[in-house]
Amino acid sequence: MMACPLVLGCHLSTTGGYRAMGETALSIGATTFAFFTRNPRGGNAKALEADDVCGLRQLLEDNGFGPLVAHASYTMNLCSDKASAIDFAHRALADDLARMELLPGNFYNLHPGSHVGQGPDEGIRLIVDGLNEALDKGQSTTVLLETMAGKGSEVGRSFEELARIIDGVREDQLLGVCLDTCHVWDGGYDVRGDFDAVLDEFDRVIGLDRLRALHLNDSKNPCGSHKDRHERIGRGEIGLDAFAAIVVNTRVCGLPMILETPNDLSGYAEEISLLRNLAKDAAGTSRPARGKA
Ligand code: FE
Ligand code: FE
Ligand code: ZN
Repeated sequence: MMACPLVLGCHLSTTGGYRAMGETALSIGATTFAFFTRNPRGGNAKALEADDVCGLRQLLEDNGFGPLVAHASYTMNLCSDKASAIDFAHRALADDLARMELLPGNFYNLHPGSHVGQGPDEGIRLIVDGLNEALDKGQSTTVLLETMAGKGSEVGRSFEELARIIDGVREDQLLGVCLDTCHVWDGGYDVRGDFDAVLDEFDRVIGLDRLRALHLNDSKNPCGSHKDRHERIGRGEIGLDAFAAIVVNTRVCGLPMILETPNDLSGYAEEISLLRNLAKDAAGTSRPARGKA
C-alpha cells in the first residue's frame, strides 16, 4: 500500500496577512489550512490585499499545497428568526464568495445555521433560499456545508438534514460537505467503532462524492452528546486508534483535513507530525515483507 497523500493542516489566524499564513503553514508541516474570511465574532471583513494574496498563491503553488478550506464567520445565520440577521448573513455570504475568487478553486466551509425554535423544516427552507441567492454558477469556490453536532437548534445535525439542503439548491454542483469528526460523533455517528460504516451511511444519504474535506477533532464528550467541545487528537472520547484508521482510509485520505483542536502553533505542529507518522506506519506495516527471509 502506498503512503496516503495526506493533505493536512490546521486553522490559522489571518492577523499577519495571507502570505504569512502560508509561511506559518509551511513551518508546521501543513499542506493545507483553514482561516476565517472575516472576524469570527464580528462582521467586518478585512480588505484582501491583492499583493498579499498573490504572494500566498505563489507560495501554495511552489510548495504543492492542496485546496484551502476557508471558514465562514460564526455570526452568519441564514435561518435566524430576525430579518436583520438573515439580511446580514446574505450580504456576508455574497461578500465572502466574491473575495474567495481572489484565491480561486478553494473551499468555503459554512455552518448551515440555527433555526432558533422555528423548526428544522423552516430552517432548511431559509438556508436553501440563502444559498440559492448567493451561489453563482461562474464561481470557482465550492461551498461546503459542515456536519454539525446538533447543539441547540443547529441545522445539519444529521446527514439527512444536509441532504435536504443540497436537494433544494439549484446550482448544487457548487456544494459539498465537510465532515467534522467531533461534530458527527457528538451527533451520534460512531466514528470510533466503525468509520467505514459512517462513510457507508454518508454515501447512502448524501453520496460520498459530496464529501470534499474533513475537520479532524477529538471530542470531550460521548457519542450522541450534542455538545461540540473539541479535544486534542487522541486525548478525547474518539481516541488515537480511530484517527489512525481515518488518515489511512482510502475513501478520505486524499481530502483536505483540518485540525480545529485546542492548541497553540507548536501543538498543531505535533499533531500534524503525529498524524503523518500514523499514516506512514500503516503504509509500512501493510507492505509485504521483502529481502532476507
Ligand atoms: Fe466549523
Ligand atoms: Fe469544524
Ligand atoms: Zn465544533
